This record gives sequence, C-alpha cells and structure tokens, in this order.
Amino acid sequence: MFLWRRHFVLVVGLTLGWPTATGLAWEVLTHEEISSRAVDVSSVDRVTREALGLTKGVDDTLLEDGGEQFSIRNWIRQGANREDDFGFLALCSRFLNHFHQPLRSPWSQAGLNDLFSGQSSGIWAQSPNQSTLSGTGSWSWQETRDRFYRGLTSPNKADREGYLAQTFRGLGHQIHLIQDASSVPHTRNEAHPPSFWTWTIEQWGLQFQNTNPTSFAAILGQTPIMPDPQLFSLSPEFGAPIPISKFLDANQYSGSNPDATTSLTSGATASGQTALLSLFGLSEYTNANFVHRNTIFTDTLPQDHKWWSPYPRRSSTNIDTEIVPELLAAEDGITDQVV
Ligand SMILES: [Zn+2]
Repeated sequence: MFLWRRHFVLVVGLTLGWPTATGLAWEVLTHEEISSRAVDVSSVDRVTREALGLTKGVDDTLLEDGGEQFSIRNWIRQGANREDDFGFLALCSRFLNHFHQPLRSPWSQAGLNDLFSGQSSGIWAQSPNQSTLSGTGSWSWQETRDRFYRGLTSPNKADREGYLAQTFRGLGHQIHLIQDASSVPHTRNEAHPPSFWTWTIEQWGLQFQNTNPTSFAAILGQTPIMPDPQLFSLSPEFGAPIPISKFLDANQYSGSNPDATTSLTSGATASGQTALLSLFGLSEYTNANFVHRNTIFTDTLPQDHKWWSPYPRRSSTNIDTEIVPELLAAEDGITDQVV
C-alpha cells in the first residue's frame, strides 16, 4: 500500500463511500444512505415546512398516483436507488449514462466509451430523451422542475401530492448522478462489470457499509464541503445548460492544475449558510486525485487514448521513496520480489 503525498485522508474518505450490484455504479443502498445524509445537510426540510406548508418536513408522506407512498426523505432515497435501473435491454440501462470524463470536451465526448458506451452524466441529467433511451422513465432536471410546478399549481389536491412525490423522487435521481462522480472509474472512462476474480470498488463499499456501520456513518457525518455559489454564473454547457451541471464539472480543471482541485474557501452557500466551498465539480476532483484499476499512472499514454489521465502520476506519490521491494523465497522455492 502506498499513499498519495497530498490526499491520503481524502482517499480514505472517498473510498469509504463506494458501492453495486450492477458493477456500473455505487450500490443502490449506498446511494440511499448518501442521499439521506444530503437531506440532513440541505435546506429541503426547511423548504418543505416553510414554503410548502408540510408540517413534518421531510417526514411528511406523499402518495403518488400509481399508489406508492413514501416520506419525502424516502422518495429522495427511492430516486437515488432507481436511477440505476436496468433498461428493457441491458445496453439501454440508465447506469451506462453515469460516467463523465472532465477533461474531454465537448461533453458529448465525455461519456463512457470503454467496453460499453453512454452519454456523459452531465448531459444525461438534462436529457429530454431519458425515457426513449432507457424505457425506465424521464427524471431529468427539467422534467423534475416541471413536476414541481404542477405540484404547486394543479387544481386537484391528489394531483398536487402525486407531482410533489415525483419531484422528490426526481431530486434523488439527480443527486445520484453527482454521487457517481465520487466513484473513480466513473470519471476515468472505466467500465467495471463484476467478475469472479475481482471486486468492484462499489461492492467493496457496500461491504464496508454493512460490516462497519459505525465507521461508515462517521464518514458520512463529516462536515460537508459545499458548492461555491459562483458555480451558478459560469458559462452554460452545450447539452447541459442548467448550472446544476457545474456541481459535476465546472471546467476549472485543465489537466495541469491538479493541486487547485483540492483548494477550498470559506464563505456562504447559496442559501446563506457558512461553509467550506469548492469551485470545482466533483468529477474534476476525483479524476485529478485518484486512480483505478486500468488507469494507474496513465499520463504517459497518448492524450486520445481512452484511459489517458494526466494525474495522479507516479511522481505525485511516494511510491519510489517509501516502497522498497524485498526478495523473499516462496513455497515453490523460487525467489520473488515483493512489497
Ligand atoms: Zn449510477
């Protein structure tokens, strides 16, 4: 095991978030837990009480037209879970559109393009074609906002309640996509289907969640780093014009300024809360500071190689100074070099 000079703590922090049954996203139960924590540190409870008049806030239940009923918190969890639904054909599954490479431009080139292919998650989040492409519904930001409008203005009370239920489910679908940007292979173009001989980082994450619930909760319970409100005034992205896309990728990481991706400032969030703020999208931070199975020190590959990533590079670590190989006689009598 070797440590990044700069980011060991962050490696641990990010790693311990990870989860999946599909091998192509965080495990859905991990997505649910991360989402529940997001509910706690966001303004959604206050807004539901003060603006919507729901006296129990996120514990208020909402009945959808189709008959499902959950609390607001659990609608958000449901959305975060179902964003990983399989499509009517496996290759139409939503999770194929959950990858984003922050150094590829335009974003139409930033999606998964490895064993499988899909849209950039930034474009997918605002795509009007989600339903057509996946057969599992349309939960784009625009569609979710439209449901919110209907939830406020529909003349029939049951309709308003149903649309609000769908609004919070849609919010869960949206934050799932940001959560996936903390999964290293999702930012480095690495499809990682499960196999018999190796685990995915997501499977490891779910096991950690299940076997070390106290440690898992402590990690989720850390003080969150919030998006800098300046993100909302950056130039809109073609295919993802609504500024929420900047939470994923703010186009601030150029491929030559990895240190900047960890810089934070103290200030006020969009809702006026004092916090540590980042002006980078989460995929930029992840891509610049972490490696995964097929993209360990791939800075020497040609820039157009599917697995090229300029950082971290070997010199970003202490691998050459701290790791000293030794010679050991193995059981078969052959001497091996080990670390
Ligand atoms: Zn996903």
